[in-house]
Amino acid sequence: MQHGGLIERLPPPLLKLTLTAARLAGRSGVKVYLVGGIVRDLMLGRPCVDIDLAVEGDAVGLALQMAEEMGARLKVHRAFGTASLKMEGFNVDLATCRNEIYRHPGALPLVKPGNLEDDLKRRDFTINAMAVCVNGPDRDVLTDLFGGRRDLSQGLVRVLHDKSFQDDATRMMRAMRYEQRLGFKIERSTVRLLKSSLDMLDTISGDRLKNELLLWLNEGHCHKILRRASQLGITGKLHPALKWNRAMSLAFRRAAAPDVVKATPLYFCLFVHNLNEEELYELLGRLNLTGSRLDLLSNQSLELANRCNDIARPAVKRSKIYSTLHEYDPVAVQTACCYAVNPSLRRNLQLYLDTLRHVKTSLGGNDLLKLGVREGPRLGSILNKLLAARLDGAIRSKSDETKLAHRLAGL
Ligand code: ATP
Repeated sequence: MQHGGLIERLPPPLLKLTLTAARLAGRSGVKVYLVGGIVRDLMLGRPCVDIDLAVEGDAVGLALQMAEEMGARLKVHRAFGTASLKMEGFNVDLATCRNEIYRHPGALPLVKPGNLEDDLKRRDFTINAMAVCVNGPDRDVLTDLFGGRRDLSQGLVRVLHDKSFQDDATRMMRAMRYEQRLGFKIERSTVRLLKSSLDMLDTISGDRLKNELLLWLNEGHCHKILRRASQLGITGKLHPALKWNRAMSLAFRRAAAPDVVKATPLYFCLFVHNLNEEELYELLGRLNLTGSRLDLLSNQSLELANRCNDIARPAVKRSKIYSTLHEYDPVAVQTACCYAVNPSLRRNLQLYLDTLRHVKTSLGGNDLLKLGVREGPRLGSILNKLLAARLDGAIRSKSDETKLAHRLAGL
Protein backbone atom coordinates (compact mmCIF):
# COMPACT_ATOMS: atom_id res chain seq x y z
CA MET A 1 0.00 0.00 0.00
CA GLN A 2 1.30 3.42 -0.98
CA HIS A 3 0.96 6.87 0.52
CA GLY A 4 3.80 9.37 -0.22
CA GLY A 5 3.35 11.38 -3.45
CA LEU A 6 -0.18 10.10 -4.05
CA ILE A 7 -1.17 13.13 -6.12
CA GLU A 8 1.61 12.49 -8.65
CA ARG A 9 0.23 9.01 -9.25
CA LEU A 10 -2.89 10.37 -10.90
CA PRO A 11 -3.15 9.77 -14.66
CA PRO A 12 -1.88 12.91 -16.50
CA PRO A 13 -5.30 14.46 -17.40
CA LEU A 14 -6.55 14.03 -13.82
CA LEU A 15 -3.28 15.38 -12.44
CA LYS A 16 -3.62 18.45 -14.66
CA LEU A 17 -7.21 19.05 -13.51
CA THR A 18 -6.26 18.58 -9.87
CA LEU A 19 -3.26 20.89 -10.04
CA THR A 20 -5.33 23.54 -11.79
CA ALA A 21 -7.96 23.30 -9.03
CA ALA A 22 -5.18 23.54 -6.45
CA ARG A 23 -3.68 26.68 -8.05
CA LEU A 24 -6.96 28.52 -8.68
CA ALA A 25 -8.34 27.78 -5.19
CA GLY A 26 -4.97 28.60 -3.61
CA ARG A 27 -5.19 32.16 -4.91
CA SER A 28 -8.01 32.84 -2.45
CA GLY A 29 -6.54 30.66 0.28
CA VAL A 30 -9.17 27.93 -0.21
CA LYS A 31 -8.06 24.37 0.54
CA VAL A 32 -8.84 21.53 -1.88
CA TYR A 33 -8.61 17.81 -1.14
CA LEU A 34 -8.66 14.56 -3.05
CA VAL A 35 -11.23 12.63 -1.10
CA GLY A 36 -13.07 9.31 -0.80
CA GLY A 37 -12.67 6.46 -3.29
CA ILE A 38 -9.81 8.05 -5.19
CA VAL A 39 -7.55 8.13 -2.11
CA ARG A 40 -8.44 4.49 -1.44
CA ASP A 41 -7.72 3.45 -5.02
CA LEU A 42 -4.46 5.43 -5.29
CA MET A 43 -3.22 3.80 -2.09
CA LEU A 44 -4.12 0.37 -3.42
CA GLY A 45 -2.55 1.14 -6.80
CA ARG A 46 -5.87 0.54 -8.56
CA PRO A 47 -6.73 2.32 -11.82
CA CYS A 48 -8.73 5.55 -11.55
CA VAL A 49 -10.85 7.43 -14.05
CA ASP A 50 -13.03 9.49 -11.72
CA ILE A 51 -11.96 11.68 -8.85
CA ASP A 52 -13.72 13.61 -6.14
CA LEU A 53 -12.37 16.94 -4.91
CA ALA A 54 -13.66 18.38 -1.65
CA VAL A 55 -13.38 22.16 -1.45
CA GLU A 56 -13.40 24.14 1.81
CA GLY A 57 -15.18 26.95 -0.03
CA ASP A 58 -17.26 27.53 -3.16
CA ALA A 59 -16.87 24.36 -5.29
CA VAL A 60 -19.15 25.55 -8.11
CA GLY A 61 -17.26 28.85 -8.47
CA LEU A 62 -13.97 26.95 -8.64
CA ALA A 63 -15.35 24.52 -11.24
CA LEU A 64 -16.49 27.46 -13.42
CA GLN A 65 -12.99 28.96 -13.34
CA MET A 66 -11.41 25.58 -14.16
CA ALA A 67 -13.75 24.95 -17.08
CA GLU A 68 -12.96 28.36 -18.51
CA GLU A 69 -9.21 27.99 -18.19
CA MET A 70 -8.99 24.38 -19.38
CA GLY A 71 -11.85 24.15 -21.86
CA ALA A 72 -13.25 21.17 -19.95
CA ARG A 73 -16.94 20.24 -20.21
CA LEU A 74 -18.83 21.41 -17.14
CA LYS A 75 -22.08 20.32 -15.50
CA VAL A 76 -23.28 22.26 -12.48
CA HIS A 77 -25.76 20.92 -9.90
CA ARG A 78 -26.58 24.16 -8.11
CA ALA A 79 -29.10 22.58 -5.73
CA PHE A 80 -26.34 20.35 -4.31
CA GLY A 81 -23.47 22.84 -4.57
CA THR A 82 -21.57 20.40 -6.77
CA ALA A 83 -20.12 20.38 -10.28
CA SER A 84 -18.62 17.82 -12.66
CA LEU A 85 -15.86 18.41 -15.16
CA LYS A 86 -15.08 16.06 -18.03
CA MET A 87 -11.81 16.01 -19.95
CA GLU A 88 -10.25 13.37 -22.19
CA GLY A 89 -12.57 10.65 -20.85
CA PHE A 90 -11.80 11.47 -17.22
CA ASN A 91 -14.27 12.88 -14.74
CA VAL A 92 -13.77 15.21 -11.77
CA ASP A 93 -16.53 15.93 -9.28
CA LEU A 94 -16.15 18.97 -7.07
CA ALA A 95 -18.20 19.49 -3.92
CA THR A 96 -18.12 21.99 -1.11
CA CYS A 97 -17.22 20.25 2.17
CA ARG A 98 -20.45 19.60 3.99
CA ASN A 99 -21.93 18.60 7.27
CA GLU A 100 -24.83 16.15 7.28
CA ILE A 101 -27.15 15.60 10.21
CA TYR A 102 -29.60 12.70 10.25
CA ARG A 103 -32.57 13.74 12.36
CA HIS A 104 -34.08 10.29 12.41
CA PRO A 105 -33.22 6.90 10.85
CA GLY A 106 -33.84 6.66 7.12
CA ALA A 107 -34.63 10.37 6.72
CA LEU A 108 -32.67 12.46 4.25
CA PRO A 109 -29.96 14.37 6.10
CA LEU A 110 -29.91 18.09 6.84
CA VAL A 111 -27.01 19.45 4.81
CA LYS A 112 -24.90 22.52 5.75
CA PRO A 113 -21.53 23.77 4.49
CA GLY A 114 -18.75 22.49 6.72
CA ASN A 115 -15.03 21.80 6.89
CA LEU A 116 -13.05 18.74 5.83
CA GLU A 117 -13.57 17.00 9.14
CA ASP A 118 -17.38 17.35 8.84
CA ASP A 119 -17.16 16.04 5.31
CA LEU A 120 -15.22 12.95 6.30
CA LYS A 121 -17.49 12.20 9.26
CA ARG A 122 -20.55 11.80 7.02
CA ARG A 123 -18.95 9.07 4.91
CA ASP A 124 -19.73 5.38 4.75
CA PHE A 125 -16.54 3.42 5.54
CA THR A 126 -13.13 4.17 6.98
CA ILE A 127 -11.44 3.21 3.70
CA ASN A 128 -13.60 5.84 1.93
CA ALA A 129 -13.11 8.54 4.53
CA MET A 130 -9.58 9.73 3.84
CA ALA A 131 -8.43 12.92 2.14
CA VAL A 132 -5.19 14.26 0.73
CA CYS A 133 -4.68 18.03 0.57
CA VAL A 134 -3.61 19.19 -2.90
CA ASN A 135 -2.56 22.81 -2.20
CA GLY A 136 -0.93 25.17 0.29
CA PRO A 137 1.53 24.18 2.99
CA ASP A 138 -0.44 20.96 3.72
CA ARG A 139 -0.02 19.66 0.19
CA ASP A 140 0.29 15.84 0.18
CA VAL A 141 -0.78 15.60 3.83
CA LEU A 142 -3.16 12.70 4.46
CA THR A 143 -6.15 13.24 6.75
CA ASP A 144 -7.25 9.89 8.15
CA LEU A 145 -9.49 10.42 11.18
CA PHE A 146 -10.93 6.90 11.39
CA GLY A 147 -8.06 4.49 10.71
CA GLY A 148 -8.74 4.10 6.99
CA ARG A 149 -5.10 3.32 6.20
CA ARG A 150 -4.96 0.57 8.80
CA ASP A 151 -8.21 -0.95 7.47
CA LEU A 152 -6.94 -0.76 3.90
CA SER A 153 -3.80 -2.63 4.84
CA GLN A 154 -5.83 -5.23 6.77
CA GLY A 155 -8.46 -5.53 4.03
CA LEU A 156 -11.39 -4.46 6.17
CA VAL A 157 -14.64 -2.63 5.41
CA ARG A 158 -15.66 -0.84 8.61
CA VAL A 159 -18.34 1.76 9.33
CA LEU A 160 -17.36 4.99 11.07
CA HIS A 161 -19.88 4.69 13.90
CA ASP A 162 -22.57 2.39 15.31
CA LYS A 163 -25.51 4.31 13.83
CA SER A 164 -24.15 4.34 10.29
CA PHE A 165 -26.54 1.77 8.80
CA GLN A 166 -29.44 3.36 10.65
CA ASP A 167 -28.63 6.73 9.12
CA ASP A 168 -28.44 5.26 5.64
CA ALA A 169 -29.21 1.61 5.04
CA THR A 170 -27.95 1.71 1.43
CA ARG A 171 -24.51 1.53 3.04
CA MET A 172 -25.18 -2.17 3.66
CA MET A 173 -25.46 -2.66 -0.08
CA ARG A 174 -22.37 -0.51 -0.70
CA ALA A 175 -20.43 -2.66 1.80
CA MET A 176 -21.16 -5.76 -0.31
CA ARG A 177 -19.69 -4.06 -3.35
CA TYR A 178 -16.43 -2.94 -1.76
CA GLU A 179 -15.93 -6.23 0.05
CA GLN A 180 -16.10 -8.30 -3.15
CA ARG A 181 -14.49 -5.77 -5.49
CA LEU A 182 -11.44 -5.29 -3.30
CA GLY A 183 -11.33 -8.85 -1.96
CA PHE A 184 -11.80 -7.44 1.58
CA LYS A 185 -13.83 -8.64 4.57
CA ILE A 186 -16.48 -6.71 6.41
CA GLU A 187 -15.07 -6.13 9.88
CA ARG A 188 -16.72 -8.18 12.63
CA SER A 189 -18.59 -5.50 14.56
CA THR A 190 -19.71 -3.95 11.26
CA VAL A 191 -21.24 -7.32 10.30
CA ARG A 192 -23.03 -7.38 13.64
CA LEU A 193 -24.37 -3.85 13.13
CA LEU A 194 -25.42 -4.73 9.60
CA LYS A 195 -27.34 -7.81 10.70
CA SER A 196 -29.13 -5.91 13.44
CA SER A 197 -30.03 -3.03 11.08
CA LEU A 198 -31.52 -5.04 8.22
CA ASP A 199 -35.02 -3.70 8.86
CA MET A 200 -33.73 -0.22 8.04
CA LEU A 201 -33.71 -1.27 4.37
CA ASP A 202 -37.50 -0.89 4.56
CA THR A 203 -36.97 2.87 4.96
CA ILE A 204 -35.15 3.19 1.62
CA SER A 205 -36.97 4.28 -1.52
CA GLY A 206 -37.40 1.87 -4.42
CA ASP A 207 -35.23 4.02 -6.68
CA ARG A 208 -32.31 3.99 -4.29
CA LEU A 209 -32.54 0.22 -3.78
CA LYS A 210 -32.75 -0.27 -7.53
CA ASN A 211 -29.67 1.90 -8.10
CA GLU A 212 -27.66 -0.06 -5.56
CA LEU A 213 -28.81 -3.38 -7.00
CA LEU A 214 -27.81 -2.26 -10.50
CA LEU A 215 -24.40 -1.21 -9.17
CA TRP A 216 -23.99 -4.74 -7.79
CA LEU A 217 -24.89 -6.24 -11.14
CA ASN A 218 -22.36 -3.99 -12.87
CA GLU A 219 -19.47 -5.29 -10.81
CA GLY A 220 -17.13 -7.95 -12.18
CA HIS A 221 -17.91 -10.36 -9.33
CA CYS A 222 -21.61 -9.75 -9.06
CA HIS A 223 -22.38 -13.41 -8.27
CA LYS A 224 -20.18 -13.17 -5.17
CA ILE A 225 -21.95 -9.99 -4.09
CA LEU A 226 -25.37 -11.61 -4.55
CA ARG A 227 -24.35 -14.73 -2.64
CA ARG A 228 -22.91 -12.74 0.26
CA ALA A 229 -25.86 -10.33 0.36
CA SER A 230 -28.19 -13.31 0.44
CA GLN A 231 -26.24 -14.97 3.28
CA LEU A 232 -26.39 -11.77 5.31
CA GLY A 233 -30.13 -11.35 4.75
CA ILE A 234 -29.94 -8.24 2.56
CA THR A 235 -31.58 -9.68 -0.55
CA GLY A 236 -34.29 -11.19 1.64
CA LYS A 237 -35.22 -7.64 2.61
CA LEU A 238 -35.66 -6.70 -1.05
CA HIS A 239 -38.04 -9.66 -1.30
CA PRO A 240 -38.27 -12.61 1.10
CA ALA A 241 -38.07 -15.11 -1.78
CA LEU A 242 -34.91 -13.58 -3.21
CA LYS A 243 -32.24 -16.02 -2.07
CA TRP A 244 -29.04 -17.45 -3.50
CA ASN A 245 -29.11 -21.22 -4.16
CA ARG A 246 -27.12 -23.93 -5.94
CA ALA A 247 -29.04 -23.72 -9.20
CA MET A 248 -28.33 -19.98 -9.28
CA SER A 249 -24.68 -20.60 -8.60
CA LEU A 250 -24.47 -22.93 -11.61
CA ALA A 251 -26.45 -20.51 -13.80
CA PHE A 252 -24.10 -17.63 -12.96
CA ARG A 253 -21.09 -19.85 -13.64
CA ARG A 254 -22.49 -20.62 -17.09
CA ALA A 255 -23.15 -16.92 -17.66
CA ALA A 256 -19.46 -16.26 -17.04
CA ALA A 257 -18.46 -18.32 -20.12
CA PRO A 258 -16.53 -16.24 -22.68
CA ASP A 259 -19.23 -16.53 -25.38
CA VAL A 260 -21.96 -15.05 -23.14
CA VAL A 261 -22.45 -11.31 -23.46
CA LYS A 262 -21.81 -9.76 -20.04
CA ALA A 263 -24.74 -7.53 -19.23
CA THR A 264 -26.72 -6.29 -16.27
CA PRO A 265 -30.14 -7.38 -17.69
CA LEU A 266 -28.98 -11.00 -17.92
CA TYR A 267 -27.70 -10.97 -14.35
CA PHE A 268 -30.95 -9.43 -13.18
CA CYS A 269 -33.00 -12.15 -14.90
CA LEU A 270 -30.73 -14.87 -13.51
CA PHE A 271 -31.08 -13.49 -10.00
CA VAL A 272 -34.88 -13.23 -9.99
CA HIS A 273 -35.41 -16.51 -11.84
CA ASN A 274 -36.64 -18.42 -8.79
CA LEU A 275 -39.48 -16.03 -8.05
CA ASN A 276 -42.99 -16.91 -9.12
CA GLU A 277 -45.18 -14.44 -11.00
CA GLU A 278 -46.62 -12.84 -7.90
CA GLU A 279 -43.27 -12.56 -6.14
CA LEU A 280 -41.68 -11.05 -9.22
CA TYR A 281 -44.50 -8.53 -9.47
CA GLU A 282 -43.94 -7.54 -5.82
CA LEU A 283 -40.17 -7.21 -6.25
CA LEU A 284 -40.45 -5.11 -9.41
CA GLY A 285 -42.93 -2.84 -7.62
CA ARG A 286 -40.62 -2.48 -4.61
CA LEU A 287 -37.69 -1.54 -6.86
CA ASN A 288 -39.78 0.87 -8.89
CA LEU A 289 -39.09 -1.19 -11.98
CA THR A 290 -42.69 -1.76 -13.06
CA GLY A 291 -42.98 -1.14 -16.80
CA SER A 292 -39.19 -1.05 -17.32
CA ARG A 293 -37.12 -3.18 -19.70
CA LEU A 294 -36.03 -5.31 -16.74
CA ASP A 295 -39.72 -5.93 -15.97
CA LEU A 296 -40.29 -7.09 -19.54
CA LEU A 297 -37.20 -9.30 -19.65
CA SER A 298 -37.69 -10.94 -16.27
CA ASN A 299 -41.34 -11.70 -17.05
CA GLN A 300 -40.37 -13.14 -20.41
CA SER A 301 -37.79 -15.35 -18.68
CA LEU A 302 -40.44 -16.58 -16.27
CA GLU A 303 -42.89 -17.36 -19.08
CA LEU A 304 -40.25 -19.05 -21.18
CA ALA A 305 -39.21 -21.31 -18.30
CA ASN A 306 -42.72 -22.80 -18.51
CA ARG A 307 -42.53 -23.33 -22.26
CA CYS A 308 -39.14 -24.98 -22.45
CA ASN A 309 -40.61 -28.50 -22.33
CA ASP A 310 -41.80 -27.96 -25.91
CA ILE A 311 -38.23 -27.89 -27.15
CA ALA A 312 -36.46 -30.18 -24.71
CA ARG A 313 -36.32 -33.32 -26.92
CA PRO A 314 -33.06 -33.94 -28.82
CA ALA A 315 -34.87 -34.53 -32.14
CA VAL A 316 -37.08 -31.46 -32.07
CA LYS A 317 -37.22 -29.66 -35.43
CA ARG A 318 -35.21 -26.47 -35.82
CA SER A 319 -38.30 -24.67 -37.06
CA LYS A 320 -40.08 -25.65 -33.85
CA ILE A 321 -37.21 -24.27 -31.75
CA TYR A 322 -37.37 -21.05 -33.73
CA SER A 323 -41.13 -20.63 -33.53
CA THR A 324 -41.07 -21.28 -29.76
CA LEU A 325 -38.29 -18.80 -29.05
CA HIS A 326 -38.42 -16.02 -31.58
CA GLU A 327 -40.94 -13.93 -29.68
CA TYR A 328 -38.63 -13.81 -26.66
CA ASP A 329 -35.77 -11.39 -26.17
CA PRO A 330 -32.35 -13.13 -26.45
CA VAL A 331 -31.71 -12.18 -22.80
CA ALA A 332 -34.70 -14.32 -21.75
CA VAL A 333 -33.46 -17.19 -23.93
CA GLN A 334 -29.94 -16.85 -22.49
CA THR A 335 -31.43 -16.96 -18.98
CA ALA A 336 -33.27 -20.19 -19.82
CA CYS A 337 -30.07 -21.58 -21.31
CA CYS A 338 -28.03 -20.84 -18.18
CA TYR A 339 -30.64 -22.60 -16.04
CA ALA A 340 -31.32 -25.55 -18.35
CA VAL A 341 -30.67 -28.86 -16.60
CA ASN A 342 -31.60 -31.12 -19.53
CA PRO A 343 -28.58 -31.23 -21.92
CA SER A 344 -30.67 -31.42 -25.11
CA LEU A 345 -32.75 -28.43 -24.00
CA ARG A 346 -29.53 -26.51 -23.38
CA ARG A 347 -28.18 -27.47 -26.80
CA ASN A 348 -31.41 -26.36 -28.48
CA LEU A 349 -31.45 -23.01 -26.68
CA GLN A 350 -27.80 -22.46 -27.55
CA LEU A 351 -28.44 -23.43 -31.17
CA TYR A 352 -31.15 -20.77 -31.32
CA LEU A 353 -28.89 -18.11 -29.78
CA ASP A 354 -25.88 -18.91 -31.97
CA THR A 355 -27.53 -19.73 -35.27
CA LEU A 356 -31.28 -20.04 -35.71
CA ARG A 357 -32.22 -16.52 -34.66
CA HIS A 358 -29.99 -15.11 -37.42
CA VAL A 359 -31.44 -17.26 -40.23
CA LYS A 360 -33.30 -15.26 -42.89
CA THR A 361 -35.12 -16.18 -46.08
CA SER A 362 -33.71 -14.84 -49.35
CA LEU A 363 -37.15 -13.79 -50.50
CA GLY A 364 -38.95 -10.96 -48.75
CA GLY A 365 -42.54 -9.69 -48.90
CA ASN A 366 -41.87 -7.58 -51.98
CA ASP A 367 -40.39 -10.54 -53.85
CA LEU A 368 -43.53 -12.55 -53.17
CA LEU A 369 -45.73 -9.69 -54.42
CA LYS A 370 -43.64 -9.62 -57.61
CA LEU A 371 -44.20 -13.39 -58.00
CA GLY A 372 -47.93 -12.68 -57.94
CA VAL A 373 -48.86 -13.47 -54.31
CA ARG A 374 -51.57 -11.12 -53.07
CA GLU A 375 -51.08 -8.88 -50.07
CA GLY A 376 -52.67 -10.22 -46.87
CA PRO A 377 -52.24 -12.82 -44.12
CA ARG A 378 -51.52 -15.54 -46.66
CA LEU A 379 -48.37 -13.72 -47.71
CA GLY A 380 -47.14 -13.71 -44.11
CA SER A 381 -47.94 -17.38 -43.75
CA ILE A 382 -45.98 -18.23 -46.91
CA LEU A 383 -42.97 -16.28 -45.59
CA ASN A 384 -43.16 -18.23 -42.34
CA LYS A 385 -43.28 -21.53 -44.20
CA LEU A 386 -40.28 -20.53 -46.31
CA LEU A 387 -38.33 -19.69 -43.16
CA ALA A 388 -39.33 -22.99 -41.52
CA ALA A 389 -38.20 -24.89 -44.61
CA ARG A 390 -34.88 -22.99 -44.57
CA LEU A 391 -34.37 -23.72 -40.87
CA ASP A 392 -35.10 -27.43 -41.31
CA GLY A 393 -32.75 -27.65 -44.29
CA ALA A 394 -35.59 -28.63 -46.70
CA ILE A 395 -34.55 -25.79 -49.03
CA ARG A 396 -31.12 -24.20 -49.40
CA SER A 397 -31.13 -21.63 -52.20
CA LYS A 398 -33.12 -18.70 -53.49
CA SER A 399 -34.39 -20.76 -56.41
CA ASP A 400 -35.59 -23.50 -53.98
CA GLU A 401 -37.45 -20.77 -52.11
CA THR A 402 -39.01 -19.43 -55.30
CA LYS A 403 -40.23 -22.91 -56.30
CA LEU A 404 -41.71 -23.52 -52.87
CA ALA A 405 -43.34 -20.08 -52.81
CA HIS A 406 -44.99 -20.85 -56.18
CA ARG A 407 -46.29 -24.14 -54.88
CA LEU A 408 -47.58 -22.71 -51.60
CA ALA A 409 -49.31 -19.84 -53.37
CA GLY A 410 -50.86 -22.25 -55.91
CA LEU A 411 -49.38 -20.24 -58.80
P1 ATP B 1 -16.74 3.72 -6.77
O1 ATP B 1 -15.41 3.23 -7.15
O2 ATP B 1 -17.75 2.66 -6.57
O3 ATP B 1 -17.25 4.87 -7.61
P2 ATP B 1 -16.46 5.64 -4.72
O4 ATP B 1 -15.86 5.38 -3.38
O5 ATP B 1 -15.85 6.71 -5.57
O6 ATP B 1 -16.44 4.23 -5.36
P3 ATP B 1 -19.08 6.92 -4.91
O7 ATP B 1 -20.38 6.21 -4.86
O8 ATP B 1 -18.69 7.63 -6.14
O9 ATP B 1 -17.99 5.86 -4.48
O10 ATP B 1 -19.05 7.93 -3.69
C1 ATP B 1 -17.96 8.78 -3.46
C2 ATP B 1 -17.68 8.86 -1.98
O11 ATP B 1 -18.81 9.41 -1.32
C3 ATP B 1 -17.43 7.50 -1.31
O12 ATP B 1 -16.08 7.14 -1.36
C4 ATP B 1 -17.90 7.75 0.09
O13 ATP B 1 -16.89 8.37 0.85
C5 ATP B 1 -19.02 8.76 -0.07
N1 ATP B 1 -20.35 8.13 -0.11
C6 ATP B 1 -21.05 7.74 -1.18
N2 ATP B 1 -22.24 7.23 -0.82
C7 ATP B 1 -22.30 7.31 0.51
C8 ATP B 1 -23.29 6.95 1.48
N3 ATP B 1 -24.44 6.38 1.16
N4 ATP B 1 -23.01 7.23 2.78
C9 ATP B 1 -21.85 7.82 3.13
N5 ATP B 1 -20.89 8.14 2.27
C10 ATP B 1 -21.10 7.90 0.97
